[in-house]
Amino acid sequence: MIKNRIPVLFSLLLSVLCTGASAADFDADFTGATMRLDFFHTGNADTEIVTLDQVRIEGPWPGSRTRLLDRTNLGKYFVEIVDLDSQAVLYSRGFASIYGEWETTGPAARGEMKTIPEAIRFPEPRKPIQVRLRKRAAAQSFVEIWQTTVDPASRHVHRAAVPDRDVWSVFTNGDPSAAVDLLILGDGYTGDEMEKYRADVERMAGHLFAHEPFASRKSDFNVWAIDTPAPESGISRPRSALFRNSPLGASYNSLDSERYVLTLDDRAWRDVAASAPYDFVIILVNSEKYGGGGIYRLYATAAVDSAFAPYLMVHEFGHSFAGLGDEYFTSDVAYEDFQGALAEPVEPNITALADPARLKWRDLVAEGTPLPTPWEKASYEEASREIQDRRRQLRKDGAPEKEVEKLFIEEREAMTARLGAEKYAGMVGAFEGASYQAKGLYRPSADCIMFTRDEVGFCPVCSRAIERVIDLYTQ
Ligand SMILES: [Zn+2]
Repeated sequence: MIKNRIPVLFSLLLSVLCTGASAADFDADFTGATMRLDFFHTGNADTEIVTLDQVRIEGPWPGSRTRLLDRTNLGKYFVEIVDLDSQAVLYSRGFASIYGEWETTGPAARGEMKTIPEAIRFPEPRKPIQVRLRKRAAAQSFVEIWQTTVDPASRHVHRAAVPDRDVWSVFTNGDPSAAVDLLILGDGYTGDEMEKYRADVERMAGHLFAHEPFASRKSDFNVWAIDTPAPESGISRPRSALFRNSPLGASYNSLDSERYVLTLDDRAWRDVAASAPYDFVIILVNSEKYGGGGIYRLYATAAVDSAFAPYLMVHEFGHSFAGLGDEYFTSDVAYEDFQGALAEPVEPNITALADPARLKWRDLVAEGTPLPTPWEKASYEEASREIQDRRRQLRKDGAPEKEVEKLFIEEREAMTARLGAEKYAGMVGAFEGASYQAKGLYRPSADCIMFTRDEVGFCPVCSRAIERVIDLYTQ
């Protein structure tokens, strides 16, 4: 059940009138429903196995009916939906996955095998298709790792109706096929906490749309939510021996990283999400312990009652929405060899700066800005190291969350002042130190929400990358 449905239907009519020709092309190849292909992704650093789980039909296709091919070149994986007869590519999208991170961890390097469920969604084809899954081999190239054939008329396609859930809209601006549909789910909220969930959704959506470029592009978005009451309050925190059967399966300590919040129960959250039109998902977790996560085109998570909840959600959504990379380089992270050799990273906001003249954000660099761009790196590293040492000590002492927050607030004040005083503050350049590498990788600005917890928003390069993704759903 979708409340506030009148404006949606009204604009649906408008869009049919305005995009007649392209909609006809879409209708020739697709039924207008969504097809979801669930699969298992198994392996370690050396072995990678993909196996089909199930194919099912969801509700109306909420994505663009004209921008069917993805040319943004983002993500570690790329899926193509190919017409079996003509071999024409009907639909493609880049994406990242939890598996893609798992295979870079220490246990995977030591040979431990793991299975992670994943899914691909695309418009339901009228005729048999090939699904081709590719993996990035170098910055510009992919190798095929798996393919399967799907006949939509087959009895193996699961066609049970999507459950009728309580879907409500935070705001709507148009037909789902011409808007970015953002679905905000909640995990670890009991039935008695549904009012809190609804207030948290409104509050967190408010923070997201207070940030550019989301603020200026707000009219391109619909925001939806679904109530999912949990038997107990909170989500699993394995390092505190706290376990919950929360409806979406979100947990701290993902990939054994204490504050990394993910759900590996892909089918649980997708079966819930299927009741709403959605292109992107944010999962709010009902917890005050600092934590979150964001994987490109999968979802973002954030702990709603952390003092840093707005930062967590906006930063993690930067990963999940636009494939932005972390610009920081002085923290402990889950990946032990994330970048490997310093080839040009695929993330739009990280560069190896092999050739400054061909820098991917060269057009945003003002004349006279040196590349690489000088900054007070050594003294920043020293100040950052001192904070990291104190954080490690607090963790060792099992200090209360408020103590950690106090340290983060102190850090934020010091770093905002320090980076804001840089000679090239506010300018676009190439500042060394990014993506967990102190040397050899560069970020676009002295400060950015992808670099620090400072309240400075997205740098111009990150902003542009976000706008390009918005265009993929609205044009
Ligand atoms: Zn940035």
